[in-house]
Amino acid sequence: MSIRLVLATRNAGKVVELQRILADLPGQDFDLVGMDELPGSIGDVVETGATFAENALLKARVIAGLTRLPAVADDSGLCVDALNGMPGVLSARWAGRHGDDQANLELLLGQLRDVPADRRAARFTCAAAAALPSGQHLVVEESLFGTLVREPRGAGGFGYDPIFVPEGETRTTAEMRPEEKDAISHRGKAFRALASQLPALLGT
Ligand code: IMP
Repeated sequence: MSIRLVLATRNAGKVVELQRILADLPGQDFDLVGMDELPGSIGDVVETGATFAENALLKARVIAGLTRLPAVADDSGLCVDALNGMPGVLSARWAGRHGDDQANLELLLGQLRDVPADRRAARFTCAAAAALPSGQHLVVEESLFGTLVREPRGAGGFGYDPIFVPEGETRTTAEMRPEEKDAISHRGKAFRALASQLPALLGT
């Protein structure tokens, strides 16, 4: 019998990504649904947490409570050393308006204009959480370390990908194929770690 899981997102790309990772888990059969596929209307959960883990857990708990189904949520962002870890949880709205990737990237590049190459370290971090209607939960966090270049390169990915070069790479994450990025990314690693711990949480 398959286990129904709600992914606390309206982003169809994230649903497909988690589906792909869960499909690789031996002996487990998950039926993953995004919030848009559920009947009735559930408003967006406001991300009031100070950390990625707090926000991911907040979303998973609220959605598990509302749907009475096990829920999975994630929260991610870019942490820049020269900016003391910012934009962090503010990554999606760094330039003011939520989700304006181009404005966010341009603002960040401007802020780093005078920062030399050897001080441009950054990491993408993703927290992934699962919560049951009973209140039981788990949360994991993974990062991808790298540096920020001065000129955007590549047409793939989203957000800050055109300026992020992972450690040991010469390409930005926007120049990598999606499956190459998935294999090393903060989100790929966090979802895989969460998926491997789900059976224990669900008691399956
Ligand atoms: P959220 O987890 O969907 O709230 O995304 C947070 C924000 O962090 C995004 O809007 C991007 O600005 C940034 N971000 C998170 N992960 C990535 C990534 O893999 N590439 C580029 N930007 C990312």
